[in-house]
Amino acid sequence: MTHLLIRDAELLVTMTGEEIPGGWVAIPDGLVEAIGRPGGEPEADEVVSVREGLVTPGLVNTHHHIFQNLTRAYGPAANLSLVDWLKAQFPLWSQLDEEAVYVSTWIGLAELALGGCTTTTDHLYLHPKPRLIDAEIAAAREIGLRFHPTRGSYSRRQEQGGLAPNSMVEDEDDILADSERLILAYHDRSPGAMLRIALAPTSPWTVTPELMKRTAELAERLDVRLHTHLAQDRDEDVFCLEHFDRRPIDQFEEVGWGSERSWVAHCIFVNDEEIQRLGSWRTGVAHCPSSNMLLAGGIAPVQEYRRAGVPVGLGCDGSASVDHASLWLEARTALLLGRLRGGPTAMSARDALEVATVGSAACLGRRGELGVIVPGGAADLVVWPLTGVAFAGAHTDPVEALLRCGPTSALHTIVNGRFVVRGGQVTHPGLEEMLRRHDRISRSWLTAATAAG
Ligand SMILES: [Zn+2]
Repeated sequence: MTHLLIRDAELLVTMTGEEIPGGWVAIPDGLVEAIGRPGGEPEADEVVSVREGLVTPGLVNTHHHIFQNLTRAYGPAANLSLVDWLKAQFPLWSQLDEEAVYVSTWIGLAELALGGCTTTTDHLYLHPKPRLIDAEIAAAREIGLRFHPTRGSYSRRQEQGGLAPNSMVEDEDDILADSERLILAYHDRSPGAMLRIALAPTSPWTVTPELMKRTAELAERLDVRLHTHLAQDRDEDVFCLEHFDRRPIDQFEEVGWGSERSWVAHCIFVNDEEIQRLGSWRTGVAHCPSSNMLLAGGIAPVQEYRRAGVPVGLGCDGSASVDHASLWLEARTALLLGRLRGGPTAMSARDALEVATVGSAACLGRRGELGVIVPGGAADLVVWPLTGVAFAGAHTDPVEALLRCGPTSALHTIVNGRFVVRGGQVTHPGLEEMLRRHDRISRSWLTAATAAG
């Protein structure tokens, strides 16, 4: 018998072209077994009726730096440019250790689940202590989110033009050895995998070209994906022209990253020819609209990317450059920004939802498995409440209502057939204790940084 049946949805949106009023989803284990129209529901151990609920695939987050939730809305850095903002945060982040990563990841994943996210990546690029990725994997297993951590890296020393203190810069042989260790220890290639590793130098201008090349070779040899920041800031153009005599996209290609194996964050400052090249490679783009606006970077050409065949996913970016991690809010922001840039026909709520699901799944190399509700696909879905003051009067189109009305968050978030959020609450009983631990670490970082002066 089916383990779990979600039924009576006001609308079930599969993101494969089907939208079923009164639809149901049968979930025997970690995969969806069947979906259907009212009347054909199978029996199940547990039946959850979700009248006045919109059911969508779980949202997929393609770019984040979760540890930054320890330094959210940090006043001294609040109104600085990207480079100065980074420099102001480094003294705080130099205190990262296993406990800080474990606790911040735990809280960060709980926050993501509340905002309708079922799969997330994380880009942890500072490693002042060893085994930090191991600590975040432990947190993900406890919460139950599907997790694609990336082994980030930062190797450009200050005398080479790097931004971080040399004490936080890693040796490149150590980076590659730890990358290989993590892939061999954790990377799960099977369908329905809960955990996959990718490799992620911070950006082509904060590591050496040699590390970019060697990382791409390692990813090819061990068949894992590649991630980095690209074309995020005008300063990056200046740096790349000065140091490499090339624009960022050219440098990206030069070091062997122009491929379907890669997905990149932001990608704002590109010309028409570069958009076509990214499309021909099928390199994915993680669109991070709130981050781009808060750091005043610019607006990524999302519609042009999609027309050129570039998979575009959604990312909330780090919790100190955006300060929230709700993918619902990011999807809504992508909708607003897309329309502001391209006019009222440039982006619909369905387009924004497609970016947050199907596009994001493609960025993570899991097209057809995540970001859709189909028999045989992952049992990752969200029930959105379409009730209460915020949705009063919205009767004709639940999908447009989801992103135009609000604010809202998930009623239920189901990952791998299990409730991570139920009735708007995180199901794990440890949330309050973990918030206390988070508060202690965050305050101790501030105290230490203030004392250091
Ligand atoms: Zn980022």
